[in-house]
Amino acid sequence: MTQAVRLIVLGKQGAGKGTQCIRLSRHYVIEHIATGDMLRAAVRNGTKVGLEAAEYMEQGELIPDDIVIRLVEERTSIGMAHERGFVLDGFPRNVHQAEMLNDMLSPEIINVVINLRVPTNLVLKRIASRRVCADCGATYSTAHPPSLDWICDNCGGEVVQREDDTETAIQRRLDLYESETKPLIAFYRKHRKLVEISGVGKEEVVSSRIINAIDGILFKEQGDISSV
Ligand code: AMP
Repeated sequence: MTQAVRLIVLGKQGAGKGTQCIRLSRHYVIEHIATGDMLRAAVRNGTKVGLEAAEYMEQGELIPDDIVIRLVEERTSIGMAHERGFVLDGFPRNVHQAEMLNDMLSPEIINVVINLRVPTNLVLKRIASRRVCADCGATYSTAHPPSLDWICDNCGGEVVQREDDTETAIQRRLDLYESETKPLIAFYRKHRKLVEISGVGKEEVVSSRIINAIDGILFKEQGDISSV
């Protein structure tokens, strides 16, 4: 496949976006751009953005759009993301961000928007068992811990529960998903980019569902281009 691949994955907190986006980035050899990971790294490193973002994040609130847009613009315009493409994880989070992304990239450039569907009772269970490395952000769960004593397999950092995985912050994030992020489903359906995929089942099964759907669209697009 020669064309750049540019994807967006939507879904509630705990739907498995992070895990599936990592798989997609490996499969298509494209950049995984996760705004939540970028913001957590900024908080850890005490950067200006991190200092601004920390309080919003702890309470499960969204960071102001202009800050997040700037991060995405910087990442999508350079290196592998620019040359081979990217998968956006956790962005856009509302219609305003999606419109700003369209202004930045033009809507045709995004190939596919996946909506990963998982019922709320299941995401609550997944979030409760979720653990992350405090240093590199790698994700684990109580069912799939690191090999040694909550020490990260990647970097040796401490594996902990996310600071915003408290009951109040989780509820706030799920409410914000309903009011802010869910309208994106209609937005991308109108742009004829949306594909709905069930996120229930084993990681690798969900991953093949997503890849099959994306390949179908990419090969059709290539066919359309080569037959012009
Ligand atoms: P996530 O890892 O995607 O669950 O994001 C963790 C937190 O980072 C969110 O609760 C927000 O505070 C912030 N965040 C991540 N992405 C965005 C975004 N696109 N817009 C605003 N805030 C965001």
